[in-house]
Amino acid sequence: ASRRVAPFGETVFATYTRLASEHGAVNLGQGFPDFAPPAFALDALADAAAGAQQYAPLPGLPELLEAVADTLSEPLKRPLDPVQNVQITVGATEALFATMQAFLDPGDEVVLLEPFYDAYPAMVTMAGGVPVYVPLEPQGEDWVLDVDALGRAFSAKTKAVVVNTPHNPTGKVFTAAELGAVVALAERYGALIVSDEVYEHIAFRPHVRVASRPGAWERTLTISSIGKTFSVTGWKVGWAVGPPELITPLRRAHQWIPFAVATPLQRAAARLLREAPGRGYYAELGARYRAKRDLLVAQLRKTPFRPLTPQGGYFVMADSSALGYRDDVALCDDLPRRVGVAAIPPSAFYAPAHRALARGLVRFAYCKTDEALLEAGGRLRGLG
Ligand code: PMP
Ligand code: GLN
Repeated sequence: ASRRVAPFGETVFATYTRLASEHGAVNLGQGFPDFAPPAFALDALADAAAGAQQYAPLPGLPELLEAVADTLSEPLKRPLDPVQNVQITVGATEALFATMQAFLDPGDEVVLLEPFYDAYPAMVTMAGGVPVYVPLEPQGEDWVLDVDALGRAFSAKTKAVVVNTPHNPTGKVFTAAELGAVVALAERYGALIVSDEVYEHIAFRPHVRVASRPGAWERTLTISSIGKTFSVTGWKVGWAVGPPELITPLRRAHQWIPFAVATPLQRAAARLLREAPGRGYYAELGARYRAKRDLLVAQLRKTPFRPLTPQGGYFVMADSSALGYRDDVALCDDLPRRVGVAAIPPSAFYAPAHRALARGLVRFAYCKTDEALLEAGGRLRGLG
């Protein structure tokens, strides 16, 4: 393996999904819905199957570019041009990867908030960049961003900062003030802001888009995808939105990564974005996830875990220290065989030097049927 790839182990999602199936465990590990997508998503897919089958244009299928541009023009407070301001990608994952390839030179630093979605440091280092970490600190049920610590992480070497709101794994929804602090630092140091908003429609307090804040637009790439919003994580259709000065380099990288994104899935995705508002879909999705969050938090309160109620996203972090395991990995390795529930050890979302911060934590996913959440709750009560 290359020096780039040699340091990587297997992702926790592969490891713990396998462990879950080996033990027939209720899988509250990897974040994917275990229920069907809405019927109109499956209709759109069937309809797209009868449409075009060849390569889409480099920026993306025109109908999807237009749907993304129309959807985001109002929240981003400016008219968006489908080709100048939007690039369609293979999920949010490829948008993030292409961003790092497009903007980092060897040795450039990228500020990441810790815990982080585990792909970020890998994408930074594969592009020759160096991650610099700023911890979010659990206080009560919130996770606090220390703005002074954030300021100390920036320097002349900073090329970019990544924000993810609603946040995986903590469920934090960042406030306008917190995002304003990020924007101010990025402006001061001339840094790019990469905003990962894949959970944008699963927020239990107002979702603030970084790119809508004063001074942010020129330096921000807003990244999202249809996976979480329409419960179709296997479709892998995403996008990056920003000014042409940022979209053009990203597109240069994208053209050598997948070149084009699956045409029928882009067509289906365009229909979902077009139809969702008129169906009242986003409000319904938010209400459904709020109920699932409340259900899992209530279940966990009857166990030795102490849940930290999330403000959005797919996950609940919980304090597991009452169970007395050596660390989070020991707990998550044992849970499937001991009680038949799988979860993710959050140390996977910390740099190796900071993993001790996750020792007494565990991440559970609530993007699951109510039956699965109740069954998991019952099994976890067996630990008490
Ligand atoms: N960002 C975050 C924060 C995520 O949790 C995920 C998880 N799937 C992704 C990006 C990847 O999104 P996609 O499946 O659209 O590539
Ligand atoms: N984002 C999902 C999670 O955090 C999983 C994505 C993946 O499997 N890579 O669980």
